[in-house]
Amino acid sequence: MMLTVRGLTKRFGGVTAVADCSFSVAERSITGLIGPNGSGKTTVFNIVTGYVQADAGSVEFAGQLIKRPKPGEMFRRGLVRTFQQARVFPQLTVVDNLVVAAAHPWWALATRRVTRADRERAEHLMTEFGLREVADLPAAQLSYGQRKLLEFAAVLMSRPRMVLLDEPTAGVNPVLRETMARHIRAYHEDGVTFLIVEHDMPFVMQLCDPVIVIDRGTPIAEGPPQVVQQDPAVLDAYLGE
Ligand code: ADP
Repeated sequence: MMLTVRGLTKRFGGVTAVADCSFSVAERSITGLIGPNGSGKTTVFNIVTGYVQADAGSVEFAGQLIKRPKPGEMFRRGLVRTFQQARVFPQLTVVDNLVVAAAHPWWALATRRVTRADRERAEHLMTEFGLREVADLPAAQLSYGQRKLLEFAAVLMSRPRMVLLDEPTAGVNPVLRETMARHIRAYHEDGVTFLIVEHDMPFVMQLCDPVIVIDRGTPIAEGPPQVVQQDPAVLDAYLGE
């Protein structure tokens, strides 16, 4: 298994966002994590990547038990993520956004030499992601869709073992949606493991296997998309939304 979480629990005041949540993500899978709004998906991402500290439970990544995940540490271990609202540096150019993403924490760049390999990797990703023409534009001038592509390309700079994508197709047009699917498949073939939170069901169904369904902070079903889709507990969870 690439990632295993056991008994994750997280409360925010009176709200239990994640409740005794356990699941595994197989190495080299494209696993979908779905569930109604507010079911705890983002909080699970935040815990695993160290942005939020769990009240209980454990995270195991690539065979190592990690007591208290921290973003920099998870990055160094090869786990990276995107955010629902793409996070790029608006004042940096596209190429600089990529180059800085080779390191973590990003702000350490000020003291870090950019290697030739980083530049070459950035060039390669810009070609692949259709960002060459905007290489020297500040990211602030990109379209919403281009920012999503840039963020995805940026997390690939460090050659991660596993990528967590938080709603990669939210707000993007159908052409870009297919482009996203193509990039995910290509890097999957290359050996990258994906865990994807996504509301677009046709997208999940064509891309992810298995799919894990979470409701009120706890997984309620897991399996191939076609099977999960028919599961009465899953239908109930979405009906109640
Ligand atoms: P999802 O990603 O499935 O929509 P979230 O993980 O964002 O779900 O949220 C799960 C629950 O936890 C929701 O009820 C949400 O309002 C609550 N929650 C998430 N983050 C916070 C926070 N920082 N402070 C308070 N409540 C939060």
